[in-house]
Amino acid sequence: MALTGIEIFKMLPKTNCKECGFPTCLAFAMALASGKAELDACPYVSDEVKEKLAEASAPPIRPIKLGPADAVKTIGGETVQFRHEKTFFSPTLIAGMLTTAMSDAEVDEKLKTFMDMQFERVGLNLRPEMFALVDKDGDAGKMSALAKRVMDGSDALILLVGDKPDVLKAGAEAAKDRRPILAYATPENADAMGALAKELDLPLVAKAEGYDALAELTTKLTGMGLKDLILDSGARNLKQVFQDNVVFRRAALVPKFKPFGFPVLNCVAEMTDDPVKQALYASVAIAKYGGIVVLSDLTPDVVFPLLLQRLNIYTDPQKPMIVTQGIYPINNPDENSPIVITTNFALTYFIVSGEIEGSKVPTWLMIMDTEGLSVMTAWAAGKFVGDAVGMFVKKSGIDEKAKTRSLIIPGYAAAISGDLEEELPDWKILIGPREASHIPAFLKSQ
Ligand code: SF4
Repeated sequence: MALTGIEIFKMLPKTNCKECGFPTCLAFAMALASGKAELDACPYVSDEVKEKLAEASAPPIRPIKLGPADAVKTIGGETVQFRHEKTFFSPTLIAGMLTTAMSDAEVDEKLKTFMDMQFERVGLNLRPEMFALVDKDGDAGKMSALAKRVMDGSDALILLVGDKPDVLKAGAEAAKDRRPILAYATPENADAMGALAKELDLPLVAKAEGYDALAELTTKLTGMGLKDLILDSGARNLKQVFQDNVVFRRAALVPKFKPFGFPVLNCVAEMTDDPVKQALYASVAIAKYGGIVVLSDLTPDVVFPLLLQRLNIYTDPQKPMIVTQGIYPINNPDENSPIVITTNFALTYFIVSGEIEGSKVPTWLMIMDTEGLSVMTAWAAGKFVGDAVGMFVKKSGIDEKAKTRSLIIPGYAAAISGDLEEELPDWKILIGPREASHIPAFLKSQ
């Protein structure tokens, strides 16, 4: 049973050293009890106390680590029902599907598409992560060959799908370096699948229709010593999948119902053959608690909007989205290219860099750290003012990249131009447009 904040407090060092980020041990204990802090944040907890507190501090939805040690991805580990309460931690993994019935050429083409499908946005690399490898004919050799092909031709995480333990074992052995997931354990094959997952120490998807049956199944599997389970309610229509995802999340968080304290798999590929409907269903799964969503095919037109939606939902609402301060070359600038400066609010960067890119004018884009504030707000807060911008330009190293001594500032920051000219007496300060959409014409006119 979960411990109260006071019970946890009694086991803490009570030195109030603040190293955990909280002003007192009591505040930390309270945060721990409500799932808003991690036990690891206090470096002074003894091993004995750690063990005692493990249950109280463990996330109500078990985090499951997948992939090789140098590129681990996590599903689960969520602590809230609604994103605004804290944040969501583990972005839904987006998977495509390969089967043992596909030709090598078809598989290779899909692997190449997967590897090429990478989108740079707001300083992040967005891409799908996984393939479900589906057994179609019960041939362990074919599953092993398919898993090996995926290992050799991509860095995808792997979900092995089938009802024959020997077939899944062959695939798992070929893919063991990526810690593949096994699917499915059902009430009928739980003993064999559970034993296999235990032997290989791999995550296992538990699938059963109805909440009672699924709770019984996960209880049985955890009783066998398995910890890394993933839930599949067996539902294959949107209304039921939506309901099940909500029930699982709520049951795990509110009454802390342990049989449902695991991440969820949503196989939209089995809900419809229509790729547009699959995209819509996947978007519901991403918004409402899907840990992994499996599509039948990964095409850029379907995956790109899902990646953006996922980025939005899994961004911490309490932290501004920022890009790293620095100098960004756009369209291969040289020493004579113009220099544009703006703030590190991600949306500002995203829009301004996109317009510059579209202009095809080689440009140096300087991004200044304003703690994620937009131009107007940063100016009003005194973070994007003449002396601060001048200091940043002087220390940025731009003079090693460009001979140009004209600095284009945002139109909304026109008020800083006088101060900036004083700070940068060798520079010509140009006031750029207020609207990002006017940047291409402005750059071309320079
Ligand atoms: Fe107390 Fe540990 Fe936090 Fe220090 S780091 S204030 S000892 S809980």
